[in-house]
Amino acid sequence: METLKNKILVEGTIIGSEILKVDSFLNHQIDINLFNEIGKEFKERFARHETTKILTVEASGIGIACIVAQYFGNIPVVFAKKHEAANLDSDTYEADVFSFTKNKNYKIRASKKYINSEDKILIIDDFLANGNAALGLVEIVRQALAEVVGVGIVIEKAFQDGRSRIEKEGIKVESLAIIKSIKDNKVVFK
Ligand code: 5GP
Repeated sequence: METLKNKILVEGTIIGSEILKVDSFLNHQIDINLFNEIGKEFKERFARHETTKILTVEASGIGIACIVAQYFGNIPVVFAKKHEAANLDSDTYEADVFSFTKNKNYKIRASKKYINSEDKILIIDDFLANGNAALGLVEIVRQALAEVVGVGIVIEKAFQDGRSRIEKEGIKVESLAIIKSIKDNKVVFK
C-alpha cells in the first residue's frame, strides 16, 4: 500500500529506536480516505476466507475495524475492553496482554454474548510489534471456541517478533506496511 507507506515517511515521527508515532492519520486524527483504502485492501487479502465478525482492541483498533467491516458486508465489530467497568458484562472472555508501548501488563475482556463458536473472526489492529495484543485477541477467540480467520495489521514492525509468534499458532498474518528497521531516525520498509 504505497499511500500508507508515503504517509508514514512524510508524517510519521520516531520515538526512541523502536516506536513510530503516526497520530496525524491513524492514532489521533483519522484519515478516512486512507482507512477506506485499508478496508478494501484487507478485503482483497482475506477474500477467500468466510468472515462473520471483526475483533479488535480499544482504542485505536476500533476506527480501523469499523471501516474494514464495511468492506466485508457490514459484519459486526467487537472490541475487547482494556478497563474493567461497572457496565461491562460480568461473563467475559479474558486475556493478559503485555503492553510494549506502556511497558506493563493489562487485561483485555470481551463479553461472551458477542463471540460464539460459530464465528469466523478476523482480528484487526493498528500495529504489530511483539504480537502480545494480537495473541491476546487470539486467546479470546479460542476461549469462545470460534475460528480465527487471520490477523490484519496496518503497520508491522518486522524487527520485532510478533509475526513469527502468531504464525507459529498456524494463523495467517497480513500487514499493509512492513517496517524492516528504523535507522538514523528513518523508517526502512521491507
Ligand atoms: P504488540 O502487542 O504487538 O507488542 O504491540 C502492538 C500494540 O502496541 C498495538 O496495539 C499498538 O497500540 C501498540 N504499539 C506497538 N508498537 C507501536 C508503535 O511503534 N507505534 C504505535 N503508535 N503503537 C505501537
